[in-house]
Amino acid sequence: MQLTDLQFDREHIWHPYTSLKEPLPVYPVAAAEGCELILADGRRLVDGMSSWWAAVHGYNHPHLNGALQRQLQHMSHVMFGGITHQPAVDLCRRLLKHAPDNLQHVFLADSGSVSVEVAIKMAVQYWYAQDHPSKNRLATIRGGYHGDTFAAMSVCDPVNGMHALFQGSLREQLFAPIPQLTPNDDWDPRALEPLAQLLERHHHELAALILEPIVQGAGGMRFYHPHYLAGAAALCREYKVLLIADEIATGFGRTGTWFACEHAQVAPDILCVGKALTGGYMTQAAVLCSAEVGAVISQGPAGGTFMHGPTFMGNPLACAVANASLQLLEQNQWQQQVQTIHQQLVAELMPLQSLPTVADVRCFGAIGVVEMHAPVDVAKAQQAFVEADVWIRPFGKLVYLMPPYIITAAQLTKLTDAIADLARQA
Ligand code: PMP
Repeated sequence: MQLTDLQFDREHIWHPYTSLKEPLPVYPVAAAEGCELILADGRRLVDGMSSWWAAVHGYNHPHLNGALQRQLQHMSHVMFGGITHQPAVDLCRRLLKHAPDNLQHVFLADSGSVSVEVAIKMAVQYWYAQDHPSKNRLATIRGGYHGDTFAAMSVCDPVNGMHALFQGSLREQLFAPIPQLTPNDDWDPRALEPLAQLLERHHHELAALILEPIVQGAGGMRFYHPHYLAGAAALCREYKVLLIADEIATGFGRTGTWFACEHAQVAPDILCVGKALTGGYMTQAAVLCSAEVGAVISQGPAGGTFMHGPTFMGNPLACAVANASLQLLEQNQWQQQVQTIHQQLVAELMPLQSLPTVADVRCFGAIGVVEMHAPVDVAKAQQAFVEADVWIRPFGKLVYLMPPYIITAAQLTKLTDAIADLARQA
């Protein structure tokens, strides 16, 4: 890549969450292979991010490449209105096989945020179909993140989300406090009281409770007690509020189970998946709903039509690569891989807790988080990481790892060493 390309990028291209005026530096990547990103100048960086939870099998994987190449010979895309195809049918069958038994219908969406919009629409239509149009608000827990589209933003954490900026454009939703008990704490049922009060007070206007099961990701990388999730599901049943589980980040093994809901044996009414669904190859998400939600929406007005249908719905290339990714997961090596990563993260990150710069260290499944006392200077930290041949992208006070499942012990140590250096020098 020429210098002029980087200059063009700087002057004309928006990157995620940056300004045009003072953009954070970008690093040109020419290729990616296994657990490494290969920079344009040939340097190889060990990837600690899985491209934001997605590339669980690593990059340039022969099985995933092969599936895409085979699908290309047939068709890249056809509309899904009035048409179906084998890759979509195979994918939906696979998703239902691995999801809780009550989930019986699949809507293929084009990104995580869109799947959250679809899930919310399903919940609202479910109550509308039963003549309860006033049950159209959402409850959630603070510290969450559900995407960047408008309905999704309305349920992101109101403080570190985008509420202030978009106040007036966003529907005001109802927030319970961040669950305080972690999976390692002793359970105390009083932890559920604020959520119980919220549902008791507002259930008549609530379509659904939406939350990220166990792991709150981009809203703060926090882990909460499985009993909280189980209790929340019970409260939803008691107060007739649907439960939407956003497993976009946690789905497909990252937390040690196929879906994080399994830690609490919870079967949500609606489940969103994305990110790792295609093994990180391309954008595709899915919304699964229960037989009951599907049946009720179908009895509603307008012939029970569900009101959504994106152009690239069910894209055959995305379905083909998602099938290939799920096939790899079905071989079950991920279970051992995630457990091994977890043990190594615990062994190598937990000791950082004693450093004066470090506020907290926590690990869950193949996720390791170091929370600093002070916000991290992202540009400076990233430069140091690249010089150490690793790819880690901190946000706020958080430096965290969620590597591809195929990472080797030596590669993972390189990542944890780099974080330890940052923590010591901060
Ligand atoms: N929900 C959760 C839990 C997420 O982590 C994300 C992405 N960070 C989203 C929704 C939005 O997904 P996407 O970026 O694909 O729109």
